[in-house]
Amino acid sequence: MEVKTLNDIELDNLGLVLLDLDDTLYSYAISHQAALAAVSDWLRENRAVAYDDFQTNYQRARKKVHDMHKQTAAGHSRFFYFQFMLEHIFGKTDFEATTVCDELYWSTFIENMVLYDDALHFLELCKAKNIDICIVTDLLASVQFAKIKHLAIGKYIRYIVSSEEVGVEKPNPLLFLYAIEKSGGPPVNGKHIAVIGDNPKKDIFDSKLYAVKQYLICR
Ligand SMILES: [Mg+2]
Repeated sequence: MEVKTLNDIELDNLGLVLLDLDDTLYSYAISHQAALAAVSDWLRENRAVAYDDFQTNYQRARKKVHDMHKQTAAGHSRFFYFQFMLEHIFGKTDFEATTVCDELYWSTFIENMVLYDDALHFLELCKAKNIDICIVTDLLASVQFAKIKHLAIGKYIRYIVSSEEVGVEKPNPLLFLYAIEKSGGPPVNGKHIAVIGDNPKKDIFDSKLYAVKQYLICR
């Protein structure tokens, strides 16, 4: 695995890019923190949930959902995080607040997403060289589609493969193999596949079948 900036990735003889989305093309942390703050504010004003209670119960609910849905897209479901969190706080399901929190979280998250400059440059270069890009991403398909729509990068991308679509999460090779098959099979004429992401534990596709170059993005 080579550690590079997006601008330093060699495009010669590159036939297909399997590209991560979150934290590779934009800053996840900025959006997530803004979204959590919006939800915390709403719950304080409308349900009298103190900030510390929110933090403690959010983390508890998140762990519970992760444990129940190990290695699947549902393990990232904010809807379940908020449902379980509110059920723990109030001892009953709060249908209105769960729905409001989920919608507020994602609308705030997406509003705060900004495409990295080098990501746009990389996408434009690939398009100019007719290099196919398939986004390979964990999480729910509808959420990832909304992110790509907001970033206005759909025109650069041929396909997306989400963990919800496939039923397994990265680094399960099935996700990457499915993406290669969906993209029309491995590149020919000596061209290789680039697997690009920010997470050395997730964005890994160690193939003996195909010519693959692994890139870990640093900023
Ligand atoms: Mg990532």
